[in-house]
Amino acid sequence: MAERIEVAVEGRVADGIAFLPEGAGPSPLVVFFMDAGGLRPALTHMGERLAATGYVVVQPNLYWRSGPLAPFDFATVWTDPRERQRIFALMNGFTLAQAKVGIDKLGVLSYDLGMTPKNPNPFDEDSEPLASRIATGLHKIGLAMKQQAWQQANDEGLSATQGQILAALVAHGPLTGSELSVRLGVTLPTISDSARVLADKKLVTKSPDPRHPRASLLRPTKRGAALGARARSWPEFMAASLVDLTAEEQRAFFSGVVKMIHALQQQGLIPLGGMCVTCTHFRPNVREGASPHHCAFVDAPLASEQLRVECAEHELAAEGTRAALWARFIRPG
Ligand code: SF4
Repeated sequence: MAERIEVAVEGRVADGIAFLPEGAGPSPLVVFFMDAGGLRPALTHMGERLAATGYVVVQPNLYWRSGPLAPFDFATVWTDPRERQRIFALMNGFTLAQAKVGIDKLGVLSYDLGMTPKNPNPFDEDSEPLASRIATGLHKIGLAMKQQAWQQANDEGLSATQGQILAALVAHGPLTGSELSVRLGVTLPTISDSARVLADKKLVTKSPDPRHPRASLLRPTKRGAALGARARSWPEFMAASLVDLTAEEQRAFFSGVVKMIHALQQQGLIPLGGMCVTCTHFRPNVREGASPHHCAFVDAPLASEQLRVECAEHELAAEGTRAALWARFIRPG
């Protein structure tokens, strides 16, 4: 049973929580000092577990001088600047001079000493699942990429979509609006609007597509090609952010990126093209060793870290073949 307790101190009220065990007692007392995060559900859970073993447990609110405590969210407390400032203000406001005790002997059991597998680390309870934190991290990276793309496009007098179109035309040669729409995962009306602006700026020309008489092929002009070549390098600022990853971490990260892109492709959120794992020329896990895969287009072995995510020679395999390629890629043998 948990009870809120209040004690008059210096004309004010110091509060805390007492956990009482079952039975008549008397029971030994444990004074359970909170950590920097203050009294919260994770500590309540610990107090209840300790009380269930026969102890009276008292958890004083060491921040009582600061008034009622708005609980911290441990998913963000160290990354949100205002919350970090708030928790440090509370921690630094608690000084030894405030601990006016008149006890000859005091035994202290460190909170950290209790962090055994049977008494789990509080972060186990306070942390979001790893997948959620990865998603939050990727969202932050996505915002940075969007901001950079917007800034770099703006510096060139383009929109981000216009820059992507020029980059695609430089990488893949002349394309129709429909082909650009599929490659970039952007709607055809958006491509058409951007292509019209690029034509007005004399950055692309339109000519009939010999394959489809009613369609037009977009080609970059000389100035458009120069801008497209620069736009292709826009994502490269991200490469600099990988500088602190070891080679092994980069390989693991790349493997995760390939699997995430594939999952998003299956949901229709990323265009299917460009990656080895959806390519008709890809032969996954055909041999043992450091380069288990094979590219039939150039007839050469491929290591996992050599897989392409944007290959100019990519040819999309049929749907059933893609499923078989993926199954063999992730479950060799
Ligand atoms: S052609 Fe390109 S995408 Fe296809 S398997 Fe070879 S390297 Fe990969």
